[in-house]
Parts: sequence; structure tokens; C-alpha cells
Amino acid sequence: MRLKIYQVGEPILREEAATLSVEEIRSPSIQLLIELMRDTMREASGVGLAAPQVGEPIQLAVIEDPIEGVEALPEHIRDERERTPIPFHVIINPILTVEPSTLTNFFEACFSVSGFAALVPRSHSVKVECLNEIGEPQVIKAQGWYARTLQHEIDHLHGTLYVDRMISRSFMTREFYLRKWHTKTSADVKGKF
Ligand code: ZN
Repeated sequence: MRLKIYQVGEPILREEAATLSVEEIRSPSIQLLIELMRDTMREASGVGLAAPQVGEPIQLAVIEDPIEGVEALPEHIRDERERTPIPFHVIINPILTVEPSTLTNFFEACFSVSGFAALVPRSHSVKVECLNEIGEPQVIKAQGWYARTLQHEIDHLHGTLYVDRMISRSFMTREFYLRKWHTKTSADVKGKF
């Protein structure tokens, strides 16, 4: 079953989401939500989905970057974005620390801003302290595309969308992005927007 994905304009996408207790995390309703969010993300071929995007104002997101998606990219793009396969996992009540690092500019899209893409500056390295799907504490250190995904999903839990951070002159339809910019490097993009 695929959940409805809320589109920009829905107030829930702009709200601060609530944290979950360990007891709540282990409840059947949250465990079912995790399964449904996983299936929804996979059906839509995404690498992350945050609970507010499916109408649940809670600090929970699912992340997965399957090997098929990574290998479908041209090698030079995969390497430049530092995109590596990430197994399915859940982050709950995350605290994001941006590690001192340079900002990188790559195109991002979002299920909740359907049909568009833009360049978004993000930190290259992050640390995330959170709970996992059974409420155990985790510390995630991430770089490259995974760090970008974490920043994008954690933003959703605080009512922030990539359009708040994008280089606005690079905002374009997804169709145009796929046709013109999808396989371009940072060097190709630099100075164009
Ligand atoms: Zn998003």
C-alpha cells in the first residue's frame, strides 16, 4: 500500500514535528507506519521519506539508497556525488550536527515539491544522533550523498523544505533537469546560475 504524499502548501510540511518516546516507537501503529513509509519510498524510487510528508507530524524518517539506483548513475556522477548504497534504516528524534566541512552544490528534488529540482548547498559531512526503529540510540557519521539525504530529511522534521535553501535561480522542472543537467558535473554547473 502506498501512502499519500503531501504537497507543498499543506501546513503540516511547515510545522515542527513532535519527538517520540521509546514506548511510542515500539507501538504497533508506529511499526506499521515504518513499513508503509518504506513501501511508499520504494514504490516512488526515492532515497528518503519523512513522516510529515505522509501526514504524520512526528520526528521519524526512513532512508535507503539501493544499489540498483546507485549503479544506474553514470560513474563520474556517482563518484562526484559520493553516492554509495545505503541499507534501509529509520531515524527518529534526530539531532543533526554539521561537521566543519565545505558546502557542496548538487541538484535535489523532493516528493513534496513534485516535478521540480534545484541546486542546494549542503554540508559534506554530518553527525546524527538519533534512535533507530526499536528505540535504540545510534550515532551516524555520514559524508557525501548520504550526508545530503540526512540533511534533507531532518529539515522536513523541522518544517523546512529544500526550496528554503536552494540557489533559487537554478529552480527548474524535473523534466528539464533530467534532460539537460542530470549527467553534468559540478564544473559544468559552476557559474551557470
Ligand atoms: Zn523531501
